[in-house]
Amino acid sequence: MDKPMMPQTRRLYFEDAYSLEFEAVVLEKRTYEGSPAVVLDRTAFYPESGGQPWDKGTLGGVEVLKVLDLDAVILHVLRADVPAGRVRGLVDGPTRFDHMQQHTGQHILSQAFFEVLKGETLSFHLGADVSTLEIGLRAVSDADLDRVEDRANAIVREDREVKTYFVPEERIGEVPLRRPPKKQGLLRVVEVAGFDYSACGGTHCRRSGEVGLIKVLGYEKIRGNVRFDFLCGSRAVADYRVKDRGLRRIAGLFSAAPKDAAAQVEKLAADLKSLRKRSCRLEERLAAFDAQEIIRGASGRIIAAVLPDRTPEEARFLALNIIRSGAFAVVYGATGEEQAHLILARSESLTADLRLLIPVVSAVVPVKGGGGPSLVELVTPAKDKLGAAVEAARAWLEAHQDEPR
Ligand SMILES: [Zn+2]
Repeated sequence: MDKPMMPQTRRLYFEDAYSLEFEAVVLEKRTYEGSPAVVLDRTAFYPESGGQPWDKGTLGGVEVLKVLDLDAVILHVLRADVPAGRVRGLVDGPTRFDHMQQHTGQHILSQAFFEVLKGETLSFHLGADVSTLEIGLRAVSDADLDRVEDRANAIVREDREVKTYFVPEERIGEVPLRRPPKKQGLLRVVEVAGFDYSACGGTHCRRSGEVGLIKVLGYEKIRGNVRFDFLCGSRAVADYRVKDRGLRRIAGLFSAAPKDAAAQVEKLAADLKSLRKRSCRLEERLAAFDAQEIIRGASGRIIAAVLPDRTPEEARFLALNIIRSGAFAVVYGATGEEQAHLILARSESLTADLRLLIPVVSAVVPVKGGGGPSLVELVTPAKDKLGAAVEAARAWLEAHQDEPR
């Protein structure tokens, strides 16, 4: 029932989804979350609804920030106020057409899922980059998915008419809807001729051919169902372009055909894994060898140096190799990417508590870190004073020599 005193917005996008310019009268001015907003007597702007985002564009030259469906009226939230009276609206064409492609493609894909796998559509979201479709399936195989995609793209190729018409609620039973309607009263039916019948208030292409390529990108299991990502039309072409160029670059690295690139990368990853293992073993052997060399050249139990060619990890590894080979105390300095590291280590057969070195070192450079009696690791931002810090630690150890137990 119409309430004659209440304002109503005529939805021009129901009548013609391709009409982007219109003239309207401002019926009411409101504010929405601090922004000015207007109700018009008619609008071509689609409001956020049914998983489809609102249209972009301008009213009286002012940017439309958001469009809301308040049942009887549509609220346009604006960047700035517009004068009362007549106003000219302009819907952004590329965004509108993109939404039409994604939404019409969704109807076709939903029906293809139902036809091929008896999978019912549970929800749809038209995203800024990718759209999603949740289907009532426990699982899906690649072969099944290919059949669904092929069926959907066959409907596109057949260039079927996409009709919209209104049916009173009491006669909706005569229309073979894919899903029962969520609304009451006069229902808007969108029919991809002879293929899919949906109750829907969105904007759609007039022929299935305009949807272009329909491509499912991937899926994940969610709430016991399967949620698919998909792209239609220009989005699918843009995605194909990016992936094709990326794959060609990868294939070029192997002088392989794009179809063989994945196998080449898998082989490379396996090679890398075994080389890493081998490199690890070699590093261990080298460190043991280095430790023996250093021990041979040492004049006492204390070994202290800045190691300019080693990473802190390598310095720590070397220190541990030395203290395991005899009764030694080691002070190594090594520079990492951000900070300098000081590694203080001693054999278990010695007794000095290396934590006593922390105040000694911190008198020379600011340090953070700590450790136990036989192993302390400190870091300092003062890379240029690393030599002085190592020397201070060495001097302390010389003055506090202990004998092996
Ligand atoms: Zn629709």
